Amino acid sequence: MPPVGNDSGRKELESRIWALINANTVVIFSKSHCPYCVKVKGLFKELEVECNAVELDHVQDGPAYQDMLLEMTGQKTVPNVFVNGTHVGGCDDTMRAHKDGVLERLLSGTDKVAYDYDLIVIGGGSGGMACSKEAAALGKKVMVLDYVVPTPRGTTWGLGGTCVNVGCIPKKLMHQAAALGTAARDARAFGWEFGGDTVTHNWASMREAVNDHIKELNFIYRAALTEKKVDYINAYAEFTEPHKIKAVKISKQGKVSKETFHTAATFVLATGQRPRYLGIPGDKEHCITSDDLFWLPHCPGKTLVIGASYVALECAGFLAGIGLDVTVMVRSVLLRGFDQDVAERVGRHMEEHGVRFLRRHVPVKVEELEAGAPGRLRVTARSTESDAVVEGEYNTVLIAVGRDACTDKMGLEAAGVEVNPENGKISVSDEERTNVPHIYALGDILEGKWELTPVAIQAGKLLARRLYAGSAPKCDYVNVPTTVFTPLEYGSCGLSEERATELYGQDNIEVFHKLFSPLEFTVPNRDKNKCYSKVICNKLDEYRVIGFHYLGPNAGEVTQGFGVAMKCGLTKAQLDGTIGIHPTCAEEFTTLETTKSSGEDIAVRPPKGC
Ligand code: FAD
Ligand code: NAP
Repeated sequence: MPPVGNDSGRKELESRIWALINANTVVIFSKSHCPYCVKVKGLFKELEVECNAVELDHVQDGPAYQDMLLEMTGQKTVPNVFVNGTHVGGCDDTMRAHKDGVLERLLSGTDKVAYDYDLIVIGGGSGGMACSKEAAALGKKVMVLDYVVPTPRGTTWGLGGTCVNVGCIPKKLMHQAAALGTAARDARAFGWEFGGDTVTHNWASMREAVNDHIKELNFIYRAALTEKKVDYINAYAEFTEPHKIKAVKISKQGKVSKETFHTAATFVLATGQRPRYLGIPGDKEHCITSDDLFWLPHCPGKTLVIGASYVALECAGFLAGIGLDVTVMVRSVLLRGFDQDVAERVGRHMEEHGVRFLRRHVPVKVEELEAGAPGRLRVTARSTESDAVVEGEYNTVLIAVGRDACTDKMGLEAAGVEVNPENGKISVSDEERTNVPHIYALGDILEGKWELTPVAIQAGKLLARRLYAGSAPKCDYVNVPTTVFTPLEYGSCGLSEERATELYGQDNIEVFHKLFSPLEFTVPNRDKNKCYSKVICNKLDEYRVIGFHYLGPNAGEVTQGFGVAMKCGLTKAQLDGTIGIHPTCAEEFTTLETTKSSGEDIAVRPPKGC
C-alpha cells in the first residue's frame, strides 16, 4: 500500500473510504473512547440498524482518515456518520435527523434531502453557461463554478470558457486580421491607393484589441448570470460526495484561500478540455499552446506549429497571414477525420502562400539556443519513416497536438462517475446522463461527440429544458456543420468521402464536385481553381446528400444554410432544383454536374478566344 502522504496514497485512501460508504447502509467513523460516538452507535442499535463503525483509534492510519474526511466533508471530528451514501454529520446532526424523521427516510432510501441548490453546474464555458442560464430562467436555484488553472507560462483568463477566451472568438478575430491583409493586397487591384508599397502588421495592437473584446465578453457573461440570479463562484469544484462539492478558491499566488461546501439535487459537468503537451524535454518550459497564443504580449516571430488538425492549421494560417514565417510539423495526415481530398487542398493552398510543411516528423526535444534567452529555440525532430533527424531554429514553438478532458482532478470517484481511463472522457446516454443518475455531462468532455461550441450550447439548453420544463427534444449530434478557419476556409457537414465509402460502399455513393474561382478573386488575379465544392450522395436513398464539403471564402456562412438543408433530408434533385444566388460561391452547389467517378477534369478554363 503506498504511504498516505503522497498523491497516490491519498487517492487510494479516498477510494477506500468511498468503497466503505457505498457498500454499507450506515458507516460511522468513530473513536472507541468517544462518548458521542457511543451515543450514535447506541441510536442505530435502538433502531435495529446494522452499522459499520470504523474505529479510527484502532486503524493504522486513523489520523489520515480524519484528514481525508475533513477534505471530503468539511468535518474532522468524530463521529462522522454516512447513511446510504449521504453525509449526515456528527452526533448532534444525527440526533436531529432522527428527531426530524430525516434519518428514517434516509435509511429507507426515500428521503428527499433539502439540498442547497436544484442544480450545480461545474464549468462556466459554452455548455455550462447555456445550461445554467436556461435552468435559472425556468425558476431553478442554480450555482455555477468556473476556475481557470493557469497555463505552465501563467496565462489565465475570465469567465466564459475556451470559446470566448482562448478558442473560437480570438481565433476568428485573428483569422480576420490575416484576411484583411489579403484584402488590403487585393484592394490595389480594385483601385485603392496606399501610401507605401508594403502593408505591415502590428501584433501588439491586434492582441490588445482582441483581448479588450474578450474582457467585454467576460463582463457580459458575468452580468448575464447575475441577471438570471445564478450564483457564480470563481472556484475550482471537486466532488466530496455524490451530492456535495467542495469549492476551492485559489489566490493569485496559487494558494488555497477559501473552501466552501455546497450540495445539489442535480449536477452538470461541463469542464471542457485543455491543450495536451508532448511529454518531451523542453515542452512545458519553452513552448506555448493556443491557451497562451491569443494573450501573447509579443509577436511570436518565426513559429513552428506542431500538429495538423483544426487548432494547428488555423493558428498556422493566421500567423502566416499576418506575415510571419511559419512551419507546420505534421505527424501523419492533415485534418484527421475530415475529407482528405479537401484537407490536402487546404494544405496545398497554405503551402502556396508561404507556410512550410515538415511532413512525417515528430518533435524529440526543444531547447533554448542560449540558456536563459527565451525566443530563440532549437527543435530536434525525427522522421516517422526513417532514422533521419532534423533540427530547426524558431522564436516560438506552438504545440497543438490535441486536448485533454478536464475530468481527472475533480473527485469524480467520490461521486461514482465513470471516466474512460484512456482519455478522461465521459460516456453519456442520449440524454447526457452519466452512469450516476443525478449527474449529467456535456460539451468537450463527452466521449465520441463533437467538440464544438454550438454543440455544447445546444446540449446544455436542451438538457435544462428536459430537466425542468418537461420538454423532450434531445441534442442531435448527427450532421453537425463545422468550419475550419484556414486561409482558404473549409466548411463541411456530414460524411467525408472516406467514411461514406466505408459505410455505404464505393458503388453505392456518387460524388459530384467542381473547382471554381470566386468572382472576387478574378480582378486581383489570385487563387485560380483553388476553391472547391463537393457533395456525396447515397445512391440507395434517392441520392440523399450525406456529405457536404466547401472550400472557399465565407465557408461558415455558406455551410450553415446547407446544414439546415441536410437536417431536412436534402437530396441531389433538390439541390439541382434550387435557384442559385448570383454571383456567389454558394450557388456552385446548385449546378454540380460532374461526378468524380467520370474522372473528368474539373479545372475552370478561360473561355476560348481569351
Ligand atoms: P469550455 O468552454 O472549455 O468550458 C469549461 C470551463 O470549465 C473552463 O472555463 C474551465 O476552466 C472550467 N473548469 C474545468 N474544470 C473545472 C473545475 N473542476 N471547477 C471549476 N471550473 C472548471 N468551436 C467552434 O464551434 N468553433 C470554433 O471556431 C472553434 N475554435 C476553437 C479554437 C481553438 C483554439 C480551440 C481550443 C477550440 C475551438 N473550438 C471551436 C472548440 C470550442 O471552444 C469548445 O468546443 C467549447 O468551448 C466547449 O465548451 P465546454 O462548455 O465543453 O467547455
Ligand atoms: P485534434 O483534432 O485532436 O488533433 C490533434 C493533432 O495533433 C492531429 O493532427 C494529430 O496528428 C497531432 N498529434 C497528436 N499527437 C501528436 C504528437 N505526439 N506529435 C505530433 N503530432 C501529434 O486536436 P485539435 O486541433 O486540438 O482540436 C480539438 C478540438 O477542438 C477539435 O476536435 C475541434 O472540434 C475543436 N476545434 C474546432 C475548431 C473550429 O470549429 N473551427 C477550431 C479548433 C478546434 P495525427 O493525425 O497523426 O493523430
